[in-house]
Amino acid sequence: MSFLHVDLNSFYASCAVVKSNGQYCFDTPLMVCGDPKRRHGIVLAATYPVKRTGVRAGMPIREALARYPGAVMVAPDFRMYMDYSDRFMRIVRCYSPLIMRYGIDEAYLDYGGCERIFGPPLDLAHKLRERVKNELGLTVSVGVGDNMLMAKMGSDYKKPDAVTVINAENWQKLIWPMPVQSLMYVGKATAAKLYTLGVRTVGDLAQTSATLLKEIFGVCGTTLWRNANGMDDTRINCDPEQQKGVSKSITLSQDACNLEEVCSALLMQTEDVAYRLRTLGMRAGVVGIHFRYGDMSGEGKQRTLSTPTDATAELYDSVRSLAKELFHGRPVRQVGVRVTKLTAEPEQLLLFADTAHERRLRLDRATDALRDRYGTEVLRRAGTLCFDHDEIDDFTPFVKN
Ligand SMILES: [Mg+2]
Repeated sequence: MSFLHVDLNSFYASCAVVKSNGQYCFDTPLMVCGDPKRRHGIVLAATYPVKRTGVRAGMPIREALARYPGAVMVAPDFRMYMDYSDRFMRIVRCYSPLIMRYGIDEAYLDYGGCERIFGPPLDLAHKLRERVKNELGLTVSVGVGDNMLMAKMGSDYKKPDAVTVINAENWQKLIWPMPVQSLMYVGKATAAKLYTLGVRTVGDLAQTSATLLKEIFGVCGTTLWRNANGMDDTRINCDPEQQKGVSKSITLSQDACNLEEVCSALLMQTEDVAYRLRTLGMRAGVVGIHFRYGDMSGEGKQRTLSTPTDATAELYDSVRSLAKELFHGRPVRQVGVRVTKLTAEPEQLLLFADTAHERRLRLDRATDALRDRYGTEVLRRAGTLCFDHDEIDDFTPFVKN
């Protein structure tokens, strides 16, 4: 049994370095900040020189600058992150049908049975590390383990640009001395409780009575004890993205007050959703839209398509008519597009070829090829040009637990 966990290092900050075309490097003290101009807000990511001074994601900018005066501050670019994230996932998907995207910058890979095709897991780990570096310019740390927990602990063990194998043989030696918070699911509250029991390291936890832990923490106590002992039987069923659907939304810098404004914002979201569908090799059977208003209330509408599709123009036809039904003149703050009922089945051959449909598909394939090569910014339909990236949000549809 073997699992890999692949983690992009300092993801947002690394993207900023790569995109700077040589202006910055990985040794540049750089922070990606919520609002660098106004100097409030928080740090979203930082390069290692800044991290070494104790700066962490979530820290107020002012505090970070006190630790590293003069660090370069750059604004986030979520569209670019999503673009790199997708390209990263496409590389990972080459090596196993069982992968799980975890947040924007991590993926698990169940490698069971794939050794015969791609060689031993350790070789694959290095291959992935090198491919991501060569093709995206980003570094990853990779953990190889007997289960998902061990793989995750492995990728955390050494960063950046590293591979670590964690298995039943070295678990005690490498993991037991670590503070108990290094274990997944051990948050601040749990750690504080454990401290009162005298449990400080993973090893302490592993050697605490499982019965006692169950008495104190309930079912979670059993999980804690099992994890401290390197036990985990979580499995990847399939890509959760494929089950749940794909969605994208945007918060507008000014409320959209007429149908045309609403529709051009929706078109941009539809393009991204459709592009994702095509990279996943899926088609959607249901498409929906949602509006959110200034008072944070919201409403939505969806419809089932007569034939599942991944064509931007066909999805947008439905999106547009849904928008006409839903929009009644109330200013809209946020719009979103969501597709569900995804299917990977090959498209049915139509008895009478629909040439318009084929033309649309060809257009999509051509724009995708350009996007793959030059990034999502290269092509935008004229209807979406009035928006710039800074207005885009909600690029992390995959919730970390
Ligand atoms: Mg990461």
